[in-house]
Amino acid sequence: MKAVIVGAGIGGLAAAIRLRALKLDVEVYESNAYPGGKLTAFTKDGFRFDAGPSLFTMPHLVDELFTLAGKKPRDYFVYQKLETITNYFFEDGTTITAFADRQRFLDELKSKLAIDPTCVDQYLSRSQEIYNTVSNIFLENSLHRWKTWWTKKVAKALTRIYRFGIFDSIDSFDKKLLNHPKLIQLFNRYATYNGSNPYKAPGILSSIPHLEFNLGSYFPQGGMHSITQSLYQLALDMGVSFNFNSSVEEIMLQDNKAIGVRLGNHINKADFVISNMDVYFTYKKLMPSAKAPLKTLSQERSSSALIFYWGIAKSFQQLDLHNIFFSSDYQNEFKVLFEQKSITDDPTVYINITSKLNPTDAPKDRENWFVMVNAPSNNGQDWDQLILECRKKVIEKLSRILKTDVGSLIVSERILDPRSIELKTSSYQGSLYGTSSNSKFAAFMRHPNHKKQFQNLFFCGGSVHPGGGIPLCLQSAKIISLWIEEQFTRKIV
Ligand SMILES: Cc1cc2nc3c(=O)[nH]c(=O)nc-3n(C[C@H](O)[C@H](O)[C@H](O)COP(=O)(O)OP(=O)(O)OC[C@H]3O[C@@H](n4cnc5c(N)ncnc54)[C@H](O)[C@@H]3O)c2cc1C
Repeated sequence: MKAVIVGAGIGGLAAAIRLRALKLDVEVYESNAYPGGKLTAFTKDGFRFDAGPSLFTMPHLVDELFTLAGKKPRDYFVYQKLETITNYFFEDGTTITAFADRQRFLDELKSKLAIDPTCVDQYLSRSQEIYNTVSNIFLENSLHRWKTWWTKKVAKALTRIYRFGIFDSIDSFDKKLLNHPKLIQLFNRYATYNGSNPYKAPGILSSIPHLEFNLGSYFPQGGMHSITQSLYQLALDMGVSFNFNSSVEEIMLQDNKAIGVRLGNHINKADFVISNMDVYFTYKKLMPSAKAPLKTLSQERSSSALIFYWGIAKSFQQLDLHNIFFSSDYQNEFKVLFEQKSITDDPTVYINITSKLNPTDAPKDRENWFVMVNAPSNNGQDWDQLILECRKKVIEKLSRILKTDVGSLIVSERILDPRSIELKTSSYQGSLYGTSSNSKFAAFMRHPNHKKQFQNLFFCGGSVHPGGGIPLCLQSAKIISLWIEEQFTRKIV
């Protein structure tokens, strides 16, 4: 049997590997000349940059793919656990280092904020409890199959779920548990890990810190791009075939059953079609005559980003791999982002510097700064003007806090904005994580991995269940391969 996959993003690569492991013939079509979609990299003026994701958790989901193929993960992919998760900088001069070691982090909070940090200890245990209770329902299975709901584990979870802030926003949940405004801001920030607004997204998402603080934050040897490179190599070794610079123009449907794809005059027939293209454009461009789920497709998009890739002619001792420079008015930042669809005058700035751990990513005594600001999804804003203003504010803010004229240190520059993200990866409105989680029902409103009315057609990647970000895209591939395995097994029995 044969599967055709539209798109070689991380979800498409993982789906290819999983389906090949089921012994299907697998053919991948990718519009770009390279695999990885958002998870890519580039080199400029002697600096190497990971272009997209920089935070890496749950590496076992990557390892699992090598094991599934009968390979040793470490032969392909090597990573290290971080001792320092993130350095936080506040405008009033306070700095907090989030250490991976729980006691060290609590000691840091006690000395920097002069508080009793017991509440953080309890918060992180609660975060773990929430994750362990709900991940089986919301992340590891389809929400759209009865069999997900008919298990003892799920029944037990449902009796406890009301305790986990499903009726609160992350912000009000955090306010109940944490005893300092800076702590609330620090933990509210985790809403941005799926492009959401902490003042709207449900408190149940306070399970996200568990991934970094309890399970660990990691850095792949060679940078984030090695996730793509190693999975691409694995797929090739397994016999998956790739067609680059090849945009699928239509998913062929016969009586609502997917029978293959079309590129120009070429039709490639298949038993299963998997779309890793943003589900919005899958319907609009590849299946324009099919009945689209309009309510699902009109859900609010997640935030996007403005990224300045800067080569910096100096080394900063006070910075680490992940650094956050917080805005003074966090609530206003999200109001401007999601309601005014713009960027505040005082945005939170994230700097990722891979040359801290991978020295060859920058020339000696220099650093490769990936400087990111949350931006609204693309609604036709005047981006050139917004970029100009934002760049100025970011340089002023960093110069103020780091007490150095950052602008004069920039020796190389490239910029990515929501328009270019949309253009390069076909992500509707350039959103990073598909739809936002800014409502209690967001998880249920996200497009499923399979719809009964389109037989043999499956969806994976950040725009469908369980959502955006590398770990969830990998989970989406796992969900569809299990689903296909069931259909496949039924057919050959
Ligand atoms: C700047 C940035 C920072 C991020 N930071 C993080 C982070 O720190 N941690 C994290 O976990 N996640 C992060 N994310 C999100 C993460 O990158 C995405 O959730 C994930 O990579 C999406 O993968 P995907 O499988 O949905 O495919 P995508 O990466 O969206 O790729 C889809 C692929 O399909 C191809 N395609 C589309 N249409 C067609 C067609 N018709 N024919 C053939 N090919 C087609 C596209 O060219 C593309 O290569 C970030 C994203 C960005 C952009």
